Amino acid sequence: MVIGTHRPTKLVIDRQAIKTNIRQEMKRLNDDTEIWAVVKANGYGHGMVEVATVAQAAGATGFCVAILDEALALRAAGFTEPILVLGITEPQAAELAASQQISLTVGSLAWLETAATELHQTVLQVHFALDTGMGRIGFQTPAQLQAAEAYITEHSKFNLAGIFTHFATADEADTAYFEGQVKKFNTLMASLKERPHYVHVSNSATSLWHAACNGNVIRFGVAMYGLNPSGGELRPPYSLQPALRLESTLNFVKQVHAGDGISYGATYKATKDEWIGTIPIGYADGWPRRMQGFHVLINGEYCEIVGRVCMDQLMVRLPKELAVGTKVTLVGQNGLHAITLQDVATYAETIHYEIACGFATRVPRTYQ
Ligand code: PLP
Repeated sequence: MVIGTHRPTKLVIDRQAIKTNIRQEMKRLNDDTEIWAVVKANGYGHGMVEVATVAQAAGATGFCVAILDEALALRAAGFTEPILVLGITEPQAAELAASQQISLTVGSLAWLETAATELHQTVLQVHFALDTGMGRIGFQTPAQLQAAEAYITEHSKFNLAGIFTHFATADEADTAYFEGQVKKFNTLMASLKERPHYVHVSNSATSLWHAACNGNVIRFGVAMYGLNPSGGELRPPYSLQPALRLESTLNFVKQVHAGDGISYGATYKATKDEWIGTIPIGYADGWPRRMQGFHVLINGEYCEIVGRVCMDQLMVRLPKELAVGTKVTLVGQNGLHAITLQDVATYAETIHYEIACGFATRVPRTYQ
């Protein structure tokens, strides 16, 4: 893992923005509802341990991750709060998870049966996943759920600490599918003999727009980073503060003349005398190749990305000759203008989640 500390390209993470987003959300929650910060995928690219530290300080009382290794990294960093691995972990790792008080997600009886053969010393905390329409993981029928509940009752190696589901369309204006999932969730819950301690159904979108169904935990992810889960379809109930900026500087500036080509394939040709700046960032850093034709901000002005984005560098057309070392904003505010992760995602025809967690390890994260 090499981090590029000797080039100017960096992600700047605003801790206060993360705190503000959490505190705003907290104000809307019932007193008995906890916030578990979703810090998987290196905190959606923002840096897992740093985000977890900020989230903890802001009042988050637990963490959600995607894979066991992320949970182990949080424990190694000293976090003692509940940690839930949201994906399916290999049952062979059950003892390791139990030894670190890491809760695992369970979606089948077969998983419990295999994990039981691995568990020797410590009780494993598990959360049942209910597939109410996400179609990804989890119990689908009352019979499956009841069989797993009965198994846990008979086997003291497990404690059923929680139960949850995940909504596929909570970020959309049309609520029909969402309501169907709620109904299925209620049916599955009604088939249980005992309600586990933690009941949670809400990601950011659910808590922002369907808070009535929050259980006693919300799994707060993308909105904590200041991003609207719906893109632009729905308006959040409070102003989300984006936490991430992406900045660099011009590291080469030159004049080109009519007919001169820029970058691989020479797909851009200058039409007159033009000033071209080079910026040390490319698709290997997570800035997609398809951003050709988009723009960056320099001295408050939009400058077009000309020619193909290379692996490690890209070129922009400048309004005039500018000095090497001039600041470039790829994401964030610069003068009167701002480029948001949503702008980048829209241009790249994807979602801001993918852009945020796609920033490479070699881009240093700095915190303020
Ligand atoms: N819960 C589960 C099961 C998830 O998979 C995710 C993210 O993918 C989240 C919660 C957090 O979602 P969001 O970032 O939209 O808040």
